[in-house]
Amino acid sequence: MANEKVSKLIFDDKVKPVSYYEEKYVPRNLKEGAIVTRYAPSPTGKVHMGHLYSSLIGQKIAHDTGGVYFLRIEDTDKKREVSNGVESIVHDLKHFHITFDEGMMGENQETGSYGPYLQSNRKEIYHAYIRDLLLKGKAYVSFVTSEELEEIRKKQESKKERIGYYGKYAKDRFLKEEEIIERIQKGEPFTIRYLSQGDFEKKVVIKDLVKGKVVMPENDIDTVIMKADGLPTYHFAHAVDDHLMKTTHVIRGDEWLSSVPIHVELFKAIGANIPKYAHISPLMKEENGVRRKLSKRKDPEAAVRFYEEEGIPVEAVTTYLMTVANSNFEEFLIYNKDKTIDDFTFDFKKMSKSGAMFDLEKLKNISRNYLSTLKATTIYEQLLHFASQYDKEFFALISKYKEETIAILNIEREQKKPRKDFYAYSDIKNQIWYMYDELFTPNMYEWGTIADKKEILNILNTYLEKYYDASFDEPTWFLKLKDLAEEFGYAREVKEYKQNPEAFKGHIGDISMVLRVALTSKAMTPNLYDIIQILGKERILKRIDLLK
Ligand code: GLU
Repeated sequence: MANEKVSKLIFDDKVKPVSYYEEKYVPRNLKEGAIVTRYAPSPTGKVHMGHLYSSLIGQKIAHDTGGVYFLRIEDTDKKREVSNGVESIVHDLKHFHITFDEGMMGENQETGSYGPYLQSNRKEIYHAYIRDLLLKGKAYVSFVTSEELEEIRKKQESKKERIGYYGKYAKDRFLKEEEIIERIQKGEPFTIRYLSQGDFEKKVVIKDLVKGKVVMPENDIDTVIMKADGLPTYHFAHAVDDHLMKTTHVIRGDEWLSSVPIHVELFKAIGANIPKYAHISPLMKEENGVRRKLSKRKDPEAAVRFYEEEGIPVEAVTTYLMTVANSNFEEFLIYNKDKTIDDFTFDFKKMSKSGAMFDLEKLKNISRNYLSTLKATTIYEQLLHFASQYDKEFFALISKYKEETIAILNIEREQKKPRKDFYAYSDIKNQIWYMYDELFTPNMYEWGTIADKKEILNILNTYLEKYYDASFDEPTWFLKLKDLAEEFGYAREVKEYKQNPEAFKGHIGDISMVLRVALTSKAMTPNLYDIIQILGKERILKRIDLLK
């Protein structure tokens, strides 16, 4: 056996044989065709739209096939870690109803029989596999420094050769055991590299579920599998993990596509099956006519917290993302009004190979439509929940005026063509603030046809004294408004005015605008009759007084 003394020096006696793990992690007892897949982020901070997008797909195909969706945290790069990174990932995804069947459930919590699911807790497993490769002569100890690697790179550049530690350049392949032992004993830092058997002239062919057939040269670079700190690299750790956790499908961003030849080689090296791959193209954004990747630095909408903080309903976001993933989903929803994502059959083949457009305006429209289908009481509950976290002042108001708020939210709702004026819970206050005396600020209607303050106040007072009655139904209320118009010399009908504009000061539209602006301070509102009913005589009077 190769490297026996070296492995004794490097690895602790407690490292178990590979066979221990091969027996411990038994095949999963799932039905034929069940997909086992994972979300495998580094705990480096917030979840981005691209992650949510692939998680949504991962969860869906795992569950549609009776499989398993699990969360593995890839924390072997300790430099990039942030505190509470796991908690934050779990929180962000849970908000979008993405939960895991097994894996990490919180910072120090996990469930499932294929763990540990935190890579830093799997060190002895990786060591077992690394030692095995070392003993089989498939891996070697390397002392090459970054300065030496830089020199190699320069040499390769000057000779116009491929960059990397391979073939004749991988000089530590040929170190003698005694020298290795001596240098380790002297405390020289070292890594372990996989001794590649690949041939750059030969091809690796994968059938990617999204990209189709992909042909790439074999890997011949001696990849580092164990870093100087004793932890494995991502490449190696994920291969061991996906093998032992019985992952059937690897779904991830296509920035990993070019690493597939290395991964295939490593899977083979440890005697594992190669999983099926689905490399998802990035979400794109169009800005000033130019297409670019949605960027976590430039685009606030790239962070999933944005949606939570804006109060954009989860259903709208997930519906939109599924539309981006499979464009036929939109049509499916049009023809199947009572169905949801759960009833839809997702298909990798229908995904964009190059990058799908992410359009926040379209998402907002989906959100407007979705919110328009909710009952006023449901919106109220959601709004309350949202405001309790993000707008304490408004939370206090809507809690105090519960019935009234529900009535306000119910204006032009629960009808054939419901109102679609807000896209998010954070947007509701912008649309209804004037209904609360505490927020209301008066605005005199002096810009339109009726520019005389005296006339305006006269119209308003006369309305309240002669033409207002809380018991009027809508048609009666409107008739009374027409009477009011007539009394002041305005046409009862717009048509009538247009036929003979000389005969009138204006028309019914001007009168209702005076009322609308006086009572809401806005020129555009939902149904004025409903607003008047909710305000009631006393508050109307108060608002008219504010104009004086
Ligand atoms: N930890 C890798 C990442 O954060 C996972 C890649 C994979 O899914 O294999 O992108």
